[in-house]
Amino acid sequence: QNPVPSDIEISRAQTPKHISLVAEELGIHPSEVELYGHYKAKVSPNVLKRLESNENGKYVLVAGITPTPLGEGKSTTTMGLVQALGAHLNRPAIANVRQPSMGPTFGVKGGAAGGGYAQVIPMDEFNLHLTGDIHAISAANNLLAAAIDTRMFHEATQKKDSSLYGRLVPTKKGKRSFNKAMLKRLQKLGIQKTNPDDLTPEEIRKFARLDINPDTITIKRVVDVNDRMLRQVTVGEAPTEKGFIRKTGFDITVASELMAILALSKDLTDMRERVGRIVVGANYNNEPVTVEDIFCAGAITALLKDAIKPNLMQSLEGTPVLVHAGPFANISIGASSVIADRVALKLVGKPKNAPEEVESGFVVTEAGFDFTMGGERFFNIKCRASGLTPNAVVLVATIRALKLHGGAPDVKPGQSLGPEYTKENVELVSRGVANLCKQISNAKQFGVPVVVAINKFETDTDAEIEVVRKAAKEAGAYDAVATNHWAEGGKGSIALAEAVIRATEQPVDFKFLYDVDQTVEEKLEAIVKTMYGGAGIEILPEARKKIDLYKSQGFGNLPICIAKTQYSLSHDASLKNVPSGFTFPVRDVRASIGAGYLYALAAEIQTIPGLSTHAGYMNVEVNDNGDIEGLF
Ligand code: ADP
Repeated sequence: QNPVPSDIEISRAQTPKHISLVAEELGIHPSEVELYGHYKAKVSPNVLKRLESNENGKYVLVAGITPTPLGEGKSTTTMGLVQALGAHLNRPAIANVRQPSMGPTFGVKGGAAGGGYAQVIPMDEFNLHLTGDIHAISAANNLLAAAIDTRMFHEATQKKDSSLYGRLVPTKKGKRSFNKAMLKRLQKLGIQKTNPDDLTPEEIRKFARLDINPDTITIKRVVDVNDRMLRQVTVGEAPTEKGFIRKTGFDITVASELMAILALSKDLTDMRERVGRIVVGANYNNEPVTVEDIFCAGAITALLKDAIKPNLMQSLEGTPVLVHAGPFANISIGASSVIADRVALKLVGKPKNAPEEVESGFVVTEAGFDFTMGGERFFNIKCRASGLTPNAVVLVATIRALKLHGGAPDVKPGQSLGPEYTKENVELVSRGVANLCKQISNAKQFGVPVVVAINKFETDTDAEIEVVRKAAKEAGAYDAVATNHWAEGGKGSIALAEAVIRATEQPVDFKFLYDVDQTVEEKLEAIVKTMYGGAGIEILPEARKKIDLYKSQGFGNLPICIAKTQYSLSHDASLKNVPSGFTFPVRDVRASIGAGYLYALAAEIQTIPGLSTHAGYMNVEVNDNGDIEGLF
């Protein structure tokens, strides 16, 4: 249609299939799906066991060039590509996407279902609540936060080791016994006893007292709302807390380490172990205190036992979509889950003894932000955790972003674009295309073929697109194709899909950018020099202190997630195109030990956004039929 209707109008105009039909078409057995209404279902990871002998399908990562603040269409391209593969080229194809946080949905960003004729539907259900996974993470995280504060309170108010121990390991029916978590703690302490009555006073003290230094606690409470007023709060003000007052704060739920763990766990057992390894702070000897030590890992896993199952939805053209996890792209990997990828790759994979002519299907997944962030973390962190390697990278570029890199004025959400953007300007594109070429070379570092998807906007001209195609090929892209999925759906993305199919038939020579056993400094330098094109790094005092601490605690050999702006290859958002010669500041380093990485901050990163004066929530209404309106 011309003009293209709003995303919610398009979503609403299409009657989705019953989700049990989508499951059936994918070959999922009825016993492996749990329906959540008509259009959403959870898929049991038991699928993995049943399809163990299948080959994996082809694994495709969608990443982007350095974007404008408007977004360059990674989500729409992901959806357009699977719609083309699944609905037009008859190849099984699953899109694996993140669950959006409701914070940004009601804030400024809008939903993340794709857009135009390339969307996940129903988009309102996708954007709000889904099947409650994010709520489960809030509940689990806040249980942990409560457990930490309460434990400190109990340790402080019970001065005698024996009475603290007596309450931690109570006598039931005349008998004391250790549970599984307690036995783990004994093992960690090297105490080889299983009868609680046999511990010496010294062992009782070691077992019962965590002696957490409150200044070191890194776990905050979380809420899935952009509530900036909660950035810093004081807890324990009621008289019942006897003066145990502490300053802390809230993060947005998706910034919780539990969300990163949900994304990176291979299965339930792995998740339980990772939850136990989360470091919540340190004791007065600077030794890490973990969730296992707090005896909370089992309960957290119980709260997440359904969240670990990927959610099945569908695209506008009825092809399957798995929606799962959504770690905060600022400080975490910004990608969907390892479990969803593993399940999807088996579902579309070729059965073991299938005849030669049976072709394998595709799993297309997205990495948030630009390639220097989403892409780099996808390979170095997510692929390391999953053991999977993509067969191709699709790098999304737009003429408008390349014009920005070529020197056109800044663009801002909500403001209309100037003539540099709406009229043909081959010169700006020719200059800005260097950013795309650098990102192609970044993606190629990992040894995987790269297909450039030029996400077509109405104002783009053939001459502009040709400049991009030519430069991309010269820079080593396997292919570069314009795609018109936003206006046309899968039909507009057929040429891209065909290029992707061919690319995934090419050999892959996969390699990581660094070895985890290199020093923290060497790993940081490898990312900054090869991905960002920087001259080097400068480690500032706070970061130095933390790096030394983590090394001494034995956490030096983890991969690293760098938090910086996505609007430049460098740390400075105003440096467009391909800046060089810059020294990259590392201001602070933090640890997500359960998730399995350190993260380095180049700037102060807000871990709970705020709401703007005219926020998204203001447009939302429910009509008399109960339909949601105004959700973009
Ligand atoms: P990203 O995933 O890279 O952040 P999205 O796919 O969410 O980007 O797209 C950003 C916004 O731009 C969305 O509102 C989307 O509907 C819109 N958009 C994407 N591609 C096009 C296009 N070709 N024409 C018009 N609008 C588009």
